[in-house]
Amino acid sequence: MEKQFIASIDQGTTSSRVIIFNEKGLVVSSQSKEFRQYFPKPGHVLHDANEIWDSVMYCFKNALKKANLDFKDISAIGITNQRETTVMWNKITGQPIYKAIVWQSSQTQAISDQLVDEGYQDLFKEKTGLLINPYFSATKIRWYFENIKEAKELADDHKLAFGTIDSWLIWKLTNGEKHITDYSNASRTLIYNIYDLKWDDELLDILEIPKTILPEVVSSSGVNAYTSEKITGVKIPISGIAGDQQAALFGQTCFNKGDAKNTYGTGCFLLMNTGESPKKSKNGLLTTIAWGMNDKIEYAIEGSIFVAGSAVQWLRDGLSIIKSAEETETLAQQTKSNLGVYFVPAFVGLGTPYWVEEARGSFFGITRGVTKNHIVRATLEAIAYQTKDVINLMEEETGITLKILKVDGGASNNNFLMQFQSDILNNVIRRPKIFETTALGACYLAGIGIKLWKKDDLINMWNLDQSFNPVMKDKERNELYRNWQRALRACVAFADKENY
Ligand code: ADP
Repeated sequence: MEKQFIASIDQGTTSSRVIIFNEKGLVVSSQSKEFRQYFPKPGHVLHDANEIWDSVMYCFKNALKKANLDFKDISAIGITNQRETTVMWNKITGQPIYKAIVWQSSQTQAISDQLVDEGYQDLFKEKTGLLINPYFSATKIRWYFENIKEAKELADDHKLAFGTIDSWLIWKLTNGEKHITDYSNASRTLIYNIYDLKWDDELLDILEIPKTILPEVVSSSGVNAYTSEKITGVKIPISGIAGDQQAALFGQTCFNKGDAKNTYGTGCFLLMNTGESPKKSKNGLLTTIAWGMNDKIEYAIEGSIFVAGSAVQWLRDGLSIIKSAEETETLAQQTKSNLGVYFVPAFVGLGTPYWVEEARGSFFGITRGVTKNHIVRATLEAIAYQTKDVINLMEEETGITLKILKVDGGASNNNFLMQFQSDILNNVIRRPKIFETTALGACYLAGIGIKLWKKDDLINMWNLDQSFNPVMKDKERNELYRNWQRALRACVAFADKENY
């Protein structure tokens, strides 16, 4: 195969990264750069969209330089991005009207609460697959109209543009020629109807958002735009776009119904491919578009766990009983069992599928023989139990059985955790060699978009680092999981101040 290079732009919450991949899907070079986080008030988190753009171009140029390449050597660009973060800009000047409001910012809590109070929760959920929550873009767009004077005037003159970070970057890369987003990013805005596949007029009316500011929704893979010669010297096809979690699902080649990936970072992000039919959840899982390509939309169901790797950080920084996250693997392996110790790491309450905000972290079953190693082991096991809880719910609500769990993120390096996860799920786990699955996903989408690869090629190209197969006996698995559930119930009881 002729030499080809694909540039993957991975625009994250704290840093931007550009990775150049070759025609075999292998990393040739990479550059990342952090940018500033703005916290003007407690809970408010902002980014400067121009700084983001500068950081991306810095990474792009340096990644090329490291690989001894030029823009003209790049066959295609893939873009993946922090989802939901909202930029509003003036289409004439190309300047943002205010800083970008980041997904995790709580500055639209009041707008969000009002919508819930007015009884709109079910309507939004029914149409978008999401829950009314400040995370998603819609209440952020509303915030600009309520707080930035210029917004309404510009919108009235058809000069205002809204976009998630993918739209913003494409606007900049095309020198203002294209205002687009892909299905996966659109599905995180809370104003896109994921069933009818259009911006939803009724929801737009409720939020008083004018349709003229919205980007055109395009496929996640396919040539939807070219960079401007003014920006990159040559025209490069932009042929892959997806939000970060969906890109990771694609990068993990979870192409079939029942394929799922779990990212073990600070928290966990779980996505399961549910095929061409969207699956609704009653218990807080989100229904979302995985990707849209070749006139076909595929859906995913998504769940998250608030505390995963951060519990390991707490062992290190809060309790100071470990020096590094890595050593937890050996410490846990040094004990034969958890000695009956269970840890429910509900530092910030319990999320999916329990939803008990008042719950707090609790240890159970401590006897005089318990050592630091058991505490470490219980912490790692808790990550695996919580994952099982979410997967059980996914299986129950979708009627789809988990086929394979692909893993990534910092804590998936932990072999004890991965083996225990496989045992407790009674499923095979596969960990890839390339950890940058998000960037890899954008690269795969871009490569398919220029017809460099087909999905089947990617399955062969995906590099396995290690498989973990279940070896635990059913009796032991059931007993451990039952005890975990007892610990959960006890933790929830402790949160119930009135009845206990
Ligand atoms: P994020 O992207 O959320 O910052 P990362 O994917 O970089 O997270 O993973 C970092 C998290 O994973 C930290 O919370 C850290 O405590 C945990 N972690 C990293 N390596 C290990 C390990 N070998 N074992 C257990 N936890 C780990």
